Amino acid sequence: MDKILVTGGAGFIGSHLCDRLVNRGDDVLCVDNFYTGSKANIKHLFAHPYFELMRHDITFPFYVEVDRIYNLACPASPIHYQFDPVQTTKTSVHGAINMLGLAKRVKAKILQASTSEVYGDPEIHPQPESYWGKVNPIGIRSCYDEGKRCAETLFFDYWRQHDVQIKVVRIFNTYGPRMHPNDGRVVSNFIVQALKGDPITIYGDGQQTRSFCYVDDLIDAMISMMDTGSDFTGPVNIGNPGEFTMQELAETVLRLTGSRSELIYLPLPSDDPRQRKPEIELAKEKLSWEPGIGLEDGLKETIRYFKNLFFNC
Ligand code: NAD
Ligand code: UDP
Repeated sequence: MDKILVTGGAGFIGSHLCDRLVNRGDDVLCVDNFYTGSKANIKHLFAHPYFELMRHDITFPFYVEVDRIYNLACPASPIHYQFDPVQTTKTSVHGAINMLGLAKRVKAKILQASTSEVYGDPEIHPQPESYWGKVNPIGIRSCYDEGKRCAETLFFDYWRQHDVQIKVVRIFNTYGPRMHPNDGRVVSNFIVQALKGDPITIYGDGQQTRSFCYVDDLIDAMISMMDTGSDFTGPVNIGNPGEFTMQELAETVLRLTGSRSELIYLPLPSDDPRQRKPEIELAKEKLSWEPGIGLEDGLKETIRYFKNLFFNC
């Protein structure tokens, strides 16, 4: 049985990861400051003998004996990471230093939840891991993008300088049950708006694209990545290469919910990437992984979750 630390374990992705690890027999310590996560996401695990919860902000150091660390702590939705941008950068950078220091001290393997945002507004499409990205260093998304880029730098320097066993995954837009209803990300926004009969808020002309990965597929890839040998550090893209415009996403959500919400067009936030789609050849080769859940099936599950949350059905 491995002792595993999951930072950000009370968040959307982190809670699914805790579930999966506990269910496969690992001993899980979830650390979270509940900035965007909630106890509701993990309360079903409280009575489990292999699950422990600690309230802590990873920008401050702490010491625990663990074998593996999944570092997920960081707000991921633009409205939340932009609410306190200094704290966002601190979480990525100080948090990475603290978790890498811990990994070095206890000789733990450590995985960083990096992001497709390291590619910024990409000029190469789809994005391979070898692309260095086009990122604005001083814009409103920079606290997140540059924070995550600096975290990747720290991971690779701890690997080169201190021989820490690192794993870096670049996660593309992921969705599914347990997204926060007020999270502000596009999938949860559109589903909540459709179910409530509110207008669907499309930013810009809706022609910008994203590739959406269902959370179960992502968790498979993260666990496979952690299980790889020390010769593979990544970075590796994890995402679903299906590419959709926000207009298409809105129309699909309307069809699947049977909603009559109107579509309204609001200003595009600054630095909003125009297109994004992962190249996943490396994940296929190294992790024998590719996503299995298409957008419609994943949206149906997510719609079921929000219906249950709002209407108990
Ligand atoms: P989330 O906001 O639901 O989860 C983040 C969790 O981290 C929350 O529980 C929050 O309370 C916690 N947290 C934030 N700052 C903290 C701190 N200083 N100390 C301790 N805990 C802290 O977001 P998510 O979608 O679950 O994302 C999880 C990770 O995956 C993040 O690192 C994010 O950057 C990365 N990621 C997510 C996506 C996506 O589409 N969901 C895409 C790319 C990368
Ligand atoms: N978006 C939108 N309406 C919303 C929320 C987001 O049109 O209510 C757009 C947003 O401008 C972006 C895309 O959807 O182009 C994905 O946004 P999200 O915040 O989910 O993720 P990210 O921009 O970080 O990829």
